[in-house]
Amino acid sequence: MSMSQERPVPSYSSSSSSSSTTRSTERRPVQSPAVSRPQTQLSPTGRFVRTTATYQISPCDMNNAPGRDRPSTSSSAPAPRDPVFYDQASRTYYPSKPIRAITPSYTTVAAQTPVTLKEPRKLLVILDLNGTLFYRNKANRRSVTARPHLSTFLDFLFEHCRVMVWSSAQPHSVEAMLSFGFGDRVSRLDRVWSRDHFRLPQVDYARKVLTIKDLEYVWEGIEKEKKAQREGEKHPKYAVQFDQTNTVLIDDSKHKTQLQPHNGLALRDFDEDLARAGTDSELLKVRAYLAKLVYQENVSAYMRLHPFDSDAPLEKTSVKKAKATTATGEAALGDELDELTRRLEKSTI
Ligand SMILES: [Mg+2]
Repeated sequence: MSMSQERPVPSYSSSSSSSSTTRSTERRPVQSPAVSRPQTQLSPTGRFVRTTATYQISPCDMNNAPGRDRPSTSSSAPAPRDPVFYDQASRTYYPSKPIRAITPSYTTVAAQTPVTLKEPRKLLVILDLNGTLFYRNKANRRSVTARPHLSTFLDFLFEHCRVMVWSSAQPHSVEAMLSFGFGDRVSRLDRVWSRDHFRLPQVDYARKVLTIKDLEYVWEGIEKEKKAQREGEKHPKYAVQFDQTNTVLIDDSKHKTQLQPHNGLALRDFDEDLARAGTDSELLKVRAYLAKLVYQENVSAYMRLHPFDSDAPLEKTSVKKAKATTATGEAALGDELDELTRRLEKSTI
């Protein structure tokens, strides 16, 4: 199905089977309180068994864990956390390996004062798929619905940013969603990452576990790709070194972006209700937000102070100078994006 024309919530059923100077070499996690909790592990016979392991829980993990939001039984003690499930409601397990802490260098760079540039710059945008760009029916995982305005959103991304996909779905599911929703644009993606890029042990790969998108994996992976290039080859996707100052991870779960929280753009989950309604405008809001970010010297510093707000009306998330009085928010945004396009075309990147 072609995605070149915007349609309200198209659906289908598949028949297939299937700034560099600011980066630090600091990789060691800070010390955090150790806790013991039972875990399930895959035994040599292929059965899940419960064991007890000691974990270093990162400060971010503690802040974001679903248990933190539960009502406390005591005015002074924090609510007890489930020892096995990261999210009891969805029966999502903790990962077998401990979640590392946010590096001190990340926190330092994100704490800088944001600086707005006169000219736009290329960002690396990492896209989640399910819940972000698509809704996959839980009863029939081959039934996929595209989020409204997906085509418009992708056109903007490919014009102004380097784009890659990172989904926790298995490779064959990622391929099916992309072939449905991206069409010919698949070839314009810098890279497509799926569940096999989380470095999960087999026990976690095969079960519903919290998957954290550690951007260090992405930045390291790009450096490896660069080194593997043949002599004399210079693909445009390697023209910029990406780090926390120019990378944005778009995902419907903030828990997956917890290691680089100020690079995570958490948009509203595109769920069954939104898929049925067909009135969702989240991708237009994200587009307007990204149009601001391309003028930022350090996106993590800006996003720390001005995180994306799904609840804000589209007009208020529009780029600067977009005047709602001249037209609708969408039309005004279009004018501003045209200007952004002209300025990017002048850019050497
Ligand atoms: Mg998702």
